[in-house]
Amino acid sequence: MKIVTTIEEVRTQVKQWRAEGLTVGLVPTMGYLHEGHASLIDACHRDNDRTVVSDFVNPMQFGPTEDLESYPRDIDHDAALAEAHGCDLIFHPEPAEMYHQGFSSFVDMTVLTEELCGLSRPVHFRGVCTVVSKLFHIVSPDRAYFGKKDAQQLAVIRHMVDDLNMDIEIVGCPIIREADGLAKSSRNTYLSPDERKAALVLSQAIRLGSGMVRDGETDGAAIIEAMKQHIHAEPLARIDYVKIVDLATMQQIPVLDRPALCAIAVYIGSTRLIDNFFTEDVTG
Ligand code: AMP
Repeated sequence: MKIVTTIEEVRTQVKQWRAEGLTVGLVPTMGYLHEGHASLIDACHRDNDRTVVSDFVNPMQFGPTEDLESYPRDIDHDAALAEAHGCDLIFHPEPAEMYHQGFSSFVDMTVLTEELCGLSRPVHFRGVCTVVSKLFHIVSPDRAYFGKKDAQQLAVIRHMVDDLNMDIEIVGCPIIREADGLAKSSRNTYLSPDERKAALVLSQAIRLGSGMVRDGETDGAAIIEAMKQHIHAEPLARIDYVKIVDLATMQQIPVLDRPALCAIAVYIGSTRLIDNFFTEDVTG
């Protein structure tokens, strides 16, 4: 496995693979890899001849008061994990390689980015769409892999690829959790031992809500209220949002009469964590 830092090195390698008739998959990440990322790399390795992992903490998707500086980084650990799961090339650029002086072109999206994390993090999806577009142009993969953990991001990327006629298959992968249910996240490292225990309210609320859906509840307000009540009982938790949205538009819906996403964002202390379930995964 190779680690490269420049766009030119990625292009040279991918061109060589293409000349050999090989397929290429891409797993975009912000590094500090865990088993959630590993599952995406596994899926990519299974479906493609060659696997590229991008490892880049993208400044453009962080707001001014967010955790860009403190976001955890460990390229040696990432390289070992990625290689063990079949990665062939890690692209680990510096911000200046991705955003040269005078950079001024952006990929932006309306509607799907207006609810959920888009509402709480106004510049986030413009940063995500821009960096993922750039990665798609740099790597030109056949397929790209994204986790359902970031459900709105997955929907936004699928929509962008469709809107902008990008010839790339987007593969969504299931949420990987700790043994006690907490969704794996690089941000879990911020949690103190007490906060780590408190963070279980997210996955518990998800289990509660998905259980209601499985039992036939279609009233969105009833599901949201039950989930909110459970989270409110934890003193270290502060709700950012608990919402049910149409999977196609990411707009809120009162009744579960179509494929929907139930998504939550909760602060545990100062750490903002997200979790979700897709109704189609619950009802089959
Ligand atoms: P990040 O490094 O947090 O930007 O995540 C990179 C990719 O890994 C995104 O597509 C995430 O949705 C995915 N991912 C992160 N955590 C998980 C998880 N627990 N299970 C599945 N995919 C995940």
